[in-house]
Amino acid sequence: MNDSLAQSLTCIECGAAHPLTYRLECERCRGLLELRYDVSRLQKDGPALLTGSGLWRYAPVLPISDPAHRLTLGEGGTPLLDCPRLAAELGVRRLLLKFDGPNPTGTVKDRSSATAVAAALRFGYRATSVVSSGNAGSSIAAYSARAGLPSLIFAYERASAPKLLHMAATTANLIIYKGVYDDLITIWDRLVEERLFFDCGASRNAYKQEGKKTLAYEIAEQTGWAPPDVVVAPVAVGETFIATARGFREMHEAGWIARAPLMVAAQATRANAVARAFRDGTAITPLKIGYTVAEGLAAGDPGKKGAWVLRLLREGKGLVGDAEDDEILATQRRLARVEGIWAGPTGVATLAVLAGLLAQKRLDPGQTFCAIISETGLKTEAEPPSRTGVAFDYDTLRRLVTERLA
Ligand SMILES: *Cc1c(COP(=O)(O)O)cnc(C)c1O
Ligand SMILES: [Zn+2]
Repeated sequence: MNDSLAQSLTCIECGAAHPLTYRLECERCRGLLELRYDVSRLQKDGPALLTGSGLWRYAPVLPISDPAHRLTLGEGGTPLLDCPRLAAELGVRRLLLKFDGPNPTGTVKDRSSATAVAAALRFGYRATSVVSSGNAGSSIAAYSARAGLPSLIFAYERASAPKLLHMAATTANLIIYKGVYDDLITIWDRLVEERLFFDCGASRNAYKQEGKKTLAYEIAEQTGWAPPDVVVAPVAVGETFIATARGFREMHEAGWIARAPLMVAAQATRANAVARAFRDGTAITPLKIGYTVAEGLAAGDPGKKGAWVLRLLREGKGLVGDAEDDEILATQRRLARVEGIWAGPTGVATLAVLAGLLAQKRLDPGQTFCAIISETGLKTEAEPPSRTGVAFDYDTLRRLVTERLA
C-alpha cells in the first residue's frame, strides 16, 4: 500500500519519456520534465489508494518510492476554510481559502521541500542548496536538517527578520546575496550541473515541484471530490500554479473529479511578467524588478516555468491578474479582521487579485472560489503597535470596557 505510481519523467515539449532518474531537462530538446503516473491504477483504485495523513497521504501520486526517504515535519493537511463573511463582502456565492500558513515553516514551500529533500536522499546527494527570497531558504534549511543533510542557503538581503532568524537557526551556511532573486539564479542554476549539491531551486526540478501538487489533491478531497469552480494560485516562478493545475488535471484524467477548476494566476504588479505576457498575447519578456511586499513573488524572469504557466492559462482558458503592494497590504489587514486569518503579504496576493478581477467583472460571482493563501503572517516584519502601557484601577478599567464594547 501507499506505493508510488510514478512511471516516467515526460518532456512537456516533445513528449519523450525518460526513466525516473535525477535529470532536470529533456535529453532531446532541453524541455522541462513532468512526472507521469500509472493512470489506469488511479482510475481503477480511485481515492481508496490514499492512506495516512499529511503530505505523504498522497504518496501514490508523488515520486518517492522508498518510504524511508519520505521525511516529514508535519507538512500538508492544512485547512480549507469556508469564509462566509468575506464572501459576502466580495459579493460571491462561496469563498474557500486554502490556508497553508499552518505548515511547519509557515508556507507552501514545505510541500515542495519535503519531496525535494526526499529526492536528494533517493539519489544519494550529500548536500542541498537553494536561492531564495526567504521562504524557500527557511524551508529547505529545515527539511535538510531533518534529513541530516547540510544545506547552503542563499537569501535575499531584504528578506524579513523572522525569515532570516529562522534560516540562521536551521542552516550552518546562510549566505546573503545582493540584488534580487533574478540576479543570482541564472549563475546558480549553471552550478547545479556540476552536481555539488542537490537542486532545491524552483527552475527545473520536477521532483521538487511535485510536492506542491498535494494542494490540489487536498482541495479536492476536502470538498468531497467536487472542487471549487475557480482556484486562484500565486505565481513567482510558477511552481505552485503548475503543480496545482497538474494535480487537478491528473485527478480529472483519473476520473476522481468530474471537472478541473478554472485556474487563475496571481502576481504582484511589481513582478508581473506572466500577467503582462498574457494580456499582450506575447511570450514573456523578463522584467527588471525591485522590492515588493510580496517577497515570495519577487521574480522578474520566471524562465521556462513562466512559459509553462502561460501555456496552461491559454489552454485552460484561465485568467491572470496582479495586485499593487498597497492592495496586498490592505487585503492582509482585511483578512485578519474579517476572518481571523493572519497571512503574509505574499500569501494574500491571490485574494487581492481575486477581489480585483471581481471588481472588474471578469469573473462570475455566482461561482465557488478558492484562493490559496500560501503563507502565515507570523513571518511578516513590520512596526509593532505602540507599546506604551496603561495603568488601571477598577473605575478606569470599567469605563474602558463599557466604552469599547458598548
Ligand atoms: C515561493 C512562494 C510562492 C510562489 O512561488 P512559485 O515559484 O511560483 O511557486 C507563493 N507563496 C509563497 C508564500 C511563496 O513562498
Ligand atoms: Zn523534449
